[in-house]
Amino acid sequence: MNIVYFDNNATTMVAPEVFESMRPFFCDNYGNASSMHSFGGSVAKAVSNAREQVASLLGCDASEIIFTSGGTESDNAAIMGTLVSVPDRRKIITTRVEHPAVLEVCRSLEGHGYEVVEIGVDKNGRVDMDQLTEAIDDDTALVSVMYANNETGTIFPVEKIAEMAAAKGVAFHTDAVQAVGKLDINLSKSAIHVLSMSGHKLHAQKGVGILYVKKGTRLTPFMQGGHQEGGRRAGTENVPAIVGLGKACELAAENMEKEKTFVRALRDSLEKGILETCPDSFVNGDVENRLVNTTNISFEFIEGEAILLMMDRYGICASSGSACTSGSLEPSHVLRAMGVPFTAAHGSIRFSLSRYNTQAQVDFVIDKVPAVINRLRELSPFVTK
Ligand code: PLP
Repeated sequence: MNIVYFDNNATTMVAPEVFESMRPFFCDNYGNASSMHSFGGSVAKAVSNAREQVASLLGCDASEIIFTSGGTESDNAAIMGTLVSVPDRRKIITTRVEHPAVLEVCRSLEGHGYEVVEIGVDKNGRVDMDQLTEAIDDDTALVSVMYANNETGTIFPVEKIAEMAAAKGVAFHTDAVQAVGKLDINLSKSAIHVLSMSGHKLHAQKGVGILYVKKGTRLTPFMQGGHQEGGRRAGTENVPAIVGLGKACELAAENMEKEKTFVRALRDSLEKGILETCPDSFVNGDVENRLVNTTNISFEFIEGEAILLMMDRYGICASSGSACTSGSLEPSHVLRAMGVPFTAAHGSIRFSLSRYNTQAQVDFVIDKVPAVINRLRELSPFVTK
């Protein structure tokens, strides 16, 4: 069976060019980048080259890039590292729609004397800027707002928020895991202090990412131990993954404009095809301002998990907005924060595309999904027959 992979916000295929760039660093150039010998030195050069490639995509200086094990570590390091640096401030401001790598860390700090303010969003997933402005005060240690939402693709005005925070002398972190490689980001002109990204969302491998830390920002290292990464993140570098991440960033920079047009056309065609053929379905998120690869569609009165299982029979991979917790289906915290009705939040499906998808795949999904939805509605106890 052919796989139609429309789950690229979960993870992406490693680009063949990325895979090739990594290959020499397993069995040939396997030295330790910290070693004194020239064998290790050549590996250190490769790491340094990758740092330049990442910095070039982000429009920052290579010295501002710290390699990490991925988005989750970067988010943890950004939050914990900032708080330790400003011990006299006890307030953290974030949003209700962050990824758990931010939200759960912030919530865990509530038990340690921190006040956590979670800013709400409107029905399109747009952050409440008035509430945010009001919340930033002299006791605020950190504002952390994601660049783009992983479930709906909604893009947040992070540059504006970073400027608001900077004007009040407050550090600003953004989880840009879903944004890097999909949106133009130029950190040299930005007030963002700290930014997280993850390799496996842009065709590099899993388990590698970066933390950008603007020059002059106070951030206490989260991982203690060796002196790697200029003493800012201990642990022997994952060299093949870092080299691959550098290559993935180079490819993203080269192809971003072309891909934006291509992937948006595929996504729009998919969305239109589904909405036209499936009654009682609608798009969640800010349709005017979202990632070009993402559409989150609610199908009323049926469960997302059931849709996923039936699509899986055709090899179609996507994600649902519900997570099965302790035997019951919990609708996504993002859709709940947006006030999406219970009946629709349960039946939400996220399709997320990439440059490796085709119009033929989109046509296949448009052909199969209406039958899946009709069949499940026939079985649904919530639909009057
Ligand atoms: N932040 C966002 C917005 C994400 O979508 C993800 C992964 O889905 C993460 C953080 C975690 O990144 P990683 O899987 O690299 O730990």
